[in-house]
Amino acid sequence: MLKLFPLTTKISNGHITIGGCDTTELAAGFGTPLYIFDETTLRSKCAEYREAFEKRYPDSVISYACKAYLNRALAQIFDQEGLSLDVVSGGELAIARAAGFPMERVHFNGNNKSRQDLDLAIECGIGRIIVDNFYEISLLDRIAGEADVQQEILLRISPGIDPHTHAHLTTGNVDSKFGFPMTQAEEAIAAAMSCSSLNPVGLHFHIGSQIFDLTPYIQAINAVMDFADVMRAKYNFNLQELSTGGGLGIAYSSESVPPTVGDFADTITVTVTERCASLGFELPKLIVEPGRSIIGQAGVALYTVGAIKDIEGVRKYVSVDGGMSDNIRPSLYDAKYEAMVANKAEKHPAVEFERITIAGKYCESGDILIKDIDLPKVEPGDLIAVPCCGAYCLSMASNYNAALKPAIVLVKDGNARLIRRRETYEDLTSCDTV
Ligand code: PLP
Repeated sequence: MLKLFPLTTKISNGHITIGGCDTTELAAGFGTPLYIFDETTLRSKCAEYREAFEKRYPDSVISYACKAYLNRALAQIFDQEGLSLDVVSGGELAIARAAGFPMERVHFNGNNKSRQDLDLAIECGIGRIIVDNFYEISLLDRIAGEADVQQEILLRISPGIDPHTHAHLTTGNVDSKFGFPMTQAEEAIAAAMSCSSLNPVGLHFHIGSQIFDLTPYIQAINAVMDFADVMRAKYNFNLQELSTGGGLGIAYSSESVPPTVGDFADTITVTVTERCASLGFELPKLIVEPGRSIIGQAGVALYTVGAIKDIEGVRKYVSVDGGMSDNIRPSLYDAKYEAMVANKAEKHPAVEFERITIAGKYCESGDILIKDIDLPKVEPGDLIAVPCCGAYCLSMASNYNAALKPAIVLVKDGNARLIRRRETYEDLTSCDTV
């Protein structure tokens, strides 16, 4: 179970410690719900990705998918670790810019970028825009032309491949709102190449998320490169860059065994290299866009137990002070989590375990964080630590029930740095006008 937690996690005097910080002291000092990010885990994931790709394929770029979660302190870490950033909104772009992230290393995805989004991107001097549809081709050409900019773009192709993951996490099949389907991709190349202010330098695809079976990547790379070959012959299209998106899955449960970053890098780099050789292509710059597999394991959510309701013979509900407003994944797509009691973490034969259901505090019956988990007997005031909460929790957080979004601390070597303060009641009304 501890292996789901950040790499620095230990148990000391019955308490979980992360980055050398005792979680009970973090809870006392910063309150709960609290999101704890372990700097060592985050940096080592960045390095693992960088090294795994660089040694197999020197001209590669790791572009962190900010949708998993971004704030200014984290953006600075990604900058120091030499990653690029993949943003999907003007908002994510604004955070990256506010953090001083080099704009030439930012890539912009998204299926409905607004005029305002694209204006901001051009004004910032963004590195790449991944163009998703015909509307965007003409809108971006106009905006870039008005700004007298030659914008380098990639075209997002939807290669019609099923990644065998949850339907809500699938993006690259035929029936998808993202990208140009294969049947329209040629028209997209022709249109983009005829635009005077766009420079189409490559192709992009992203087949889905939380993927364990790597075969769909092989199929997608081959499909997209075969398409590039035809476009080279017909339009003299030069595939200088290829983005294979993100999607590598992580373990949310002790039993699950996802492919390693090395397996992922092997599959992608070998397939691209072999296909280039057989088609007579020079190796393009290779871009990957991992989100979850960079930041997921680094984050832990810490909650305090409040009300406990035991319905005899039915279920024992243990309610905590967070829930679907900070982590909607269990309600949204039945995501499963494990947990530990942070202040009763010692394995001891005398510890009495019981089966409980951990409920959130929000007004939805579906606000259940974990159904049926065996934990040491808890009482109000105990702390529940949920691992693998670094990705797609805080970035999907809401103010439902006027919840205050949690504080975040970054821990390392026994120090905890607040990198986002807890929201206040004043924040809740700060955008209202009366
Ligand atoms: N790139 C694109 C275009 C995406 O839509 C996503 C997420 O769905 C990602 C990258 C990151 O995926 P993951 O967090 O599964 O690595």
